[in-house]
Amino acid sequence: MANPKIKSSAQTVKKSNATAGRKPAAKSLYSKADLEEIFRRFSIQRPEPKGELEHVNPFTLVVAVALSAQATDAGVNKATRALFAVADTPQKMLDLGEERIREYIKTIGLYRNKAKNVVALSEKLITDFGGEVPRTREELVTLPGVGRKTANVVLSMAFGQATMAVDTHIFRIANRLLLAPGKTPDEVEQRLMKIIPDEYLYHAHHWLILHGRYCCKARKPECERCVIADLCRSPEKTWDIPAPLVELPAQVIGSEAAS
Ligand code: SF4
Repeated sequence: MANPKIKSSAQTVKKSNATAGRKPAAKSLYSKADLEEIFRRFSIQRPEPKGELEHVNPFTLVVAVALSAQATDAGVNKATRALFAVADTPQKMLDLGEERIREYIKTIGLYRNKAKNVVALSEKLITDFGGEVPRTREELVTLPGVGRKTANVVLSMAFGQATMAVDTHIFRIANRLLLAPGKTPDEVEQRLMKIIPDEYLYHAHHWLILHGRYCCKARKPECERCVIADLCRSPEKTWDIPAPLVELPAQVIGSEAAS
């Protein structure tokens, strides 16, 4: 049987990319119709995509996202399950105190600093926001340990706003596929927000993360399992026959390959 690998077309893409030098082109290579189709397929694969960080309310979501920097969601969930069972409000977190918080989260990287931030952000929520998590990006980023990415995740997951929190997976996909190339997460965020069709914007953040985590993996993209393999313009792709378009079973958190 003929090998369906698409060396020749991959080489063609490589060639055209080479002419542009090593820097990614500033513009998306995808037409409006391509973008509609890409996100339509993602929406069929995962009609209700969900974030994988466990939380019980907006406050615990802020804490979980702040703890997730340079850690896996599975690792954070393992630590926060017990923590949130005893402290699910800023006041309870303050009552618990930095030392005991450290004990709960000591399996997470940078836990000393993160425990300090959890205390500081709980304090600030009480003094400046009446113990409630604020609903604007401008206010959220004033909380210790909360940057633009964390704020975007909270706005999306806790308050239903369409945002694009560019994590390592989204940053890689945007550049690898030449979908929304950019040198910084902010640049990628702005470009993605511009090109993603409105009707898909709300879930796009999770679709891209999950696609990156389970299919378009960092070390080796699994193009043979990819539903957009025919549309993908990445010089790294190794296959251009799209995988069958079916709804996927809910992912098993923590089953991702190390990326
Ligand atoms: S075809 Fe390969 S490189 Fe392109 S999106 Fe799919 S997994 Fe990633």
